[in-house]
Amino acid sequence: MSRVYNFSAGPAVLPEEVLKQAAAEMLDYNGSGMSINEMSHRSKTFDKVIETAEQDIRDLMNIPDNYKVLFLQGGASQQFAAVPMNLMQNKKAAYIVTGQWAKKALAEAKKYGDAIEVASSADKTFSYIPDCSDLAIPEDADYVYICENNTIYGTKFKKLPNTKGHILVSDVSSCFLSEPVNVNDYGVIYGGVQKNVGPAGLVISIIREDLIRDDVPDFVPTMLKWKTQADNGSLYNTPNCWAIYMCGLVFKWLKEQGGLSEMQKRNEEKAALLYNFLDNSKLFKGTVRAEDRSLMNVPFVTGSDELDAKFVAEATANGLVSLKGHRTVGGMRASIYNAMPKEGVQKLVDFMESFEKANS
Ligand SMILES: *Cc1c(COP(=O)(O)O)cnc(C)c1O
Repeated sequence: MSRVYNFSAGPAVLPEEVLKQAAAEMLDYNGSGMSINEMSHRSKTFDKVIETAEQDIRDLMNIPDNYKVLFLQGGASQQFAAVPMNLMQNKKAAYIVTGQWAKKALAEAKKYGDAIEVASSADKTFSYIPDCSDLAIPEDADYVYICENNTIYGTKFKKLPNTKGHILVSDVSSCFLSEPVNVNDYGVIYGGVQKNVGPAGLVISIIREDLIRDDVPDFVPTMLKWKTQADNGSLYNTPNCWAIYMCGLVFKWLKEQGGLSEMQKRNEEKAALLYNFLDNSKLFKGTVRAEDRSLMNVPFVTGSDELDAKFVAEATANGLVSLKGHRTVGGMRASIYNAMPKEGVQKLVDFMESFEKANS
């Protein structure tokens, strides 16, 4: 067996310890004589899995009691629709557009109400986070929406927008559990877990209780009504049992590693390794304004499509894989999530150094 250093943006690298534990438990989960994949979601054994997972993410993120944690299907993209369906009382919302994912969320919200763009960084290919200290947010907006870490462009909100008293909804898919957050700053935090937490097919939504309402429009599908899911402990129908179990293992792993402050420390160290190299390189350069750089997704280019392609191919041959940039941006992107060890980033930097020597 030979594992590579996997820089994929998602689905992405998972902690090796977690994969080994899942493999060891595959045929017989905890003495049940069956796999978690073969078990009723209404069994006592699975109850314990989902309850423990919820408690562990509550501990990790310090989630207040007046927030619900929902384990849902349909990915982050399904929440693009669920958010306006559940929150648009006045049929008005303010979106800050910092990349493709926010753009898609805005387009989806427009189907259900008056969703307006109040800030954007499209003018410079989403390479920065706009100033959000004094936005023209309509008085009667139901919420302000951000994509907190922009997976494709590699930017991150270092400071949350001034919402002027409106609730904040944040898509944290690619920075989920990468650092401590103050849950009270948000009305809704949600993320697809396949970036920084677990396998594909699960989105976790953390929602302030008073925002989970019964009086949503009639057209809202039962499954997309947060109240349905909250009232049924995410077990209204069959959930993604496997992904919930895997996330549970990752939560335990995160706790053993020292929790989210420790993750932040490691993520800052890893990102600094790469950004410092980029800042001093004559061949490679980062594409994001320095103060808005993501700790998770690091896009970079050589300036030549040909050299970019050569770099990706040679890196792959050296066990450094999935470094090709998003199809809409080109160049390279290294996603260095929680489970990417520092040695992986060091190897990448060493390889970039030798590539630079050989090609200048
Ligand atoms: C990947 C991603 C999505 C889409 O996630 P799906 O689970 O595939 O719907 C949404 N937002 C962000 C920030 C992402 O990185």
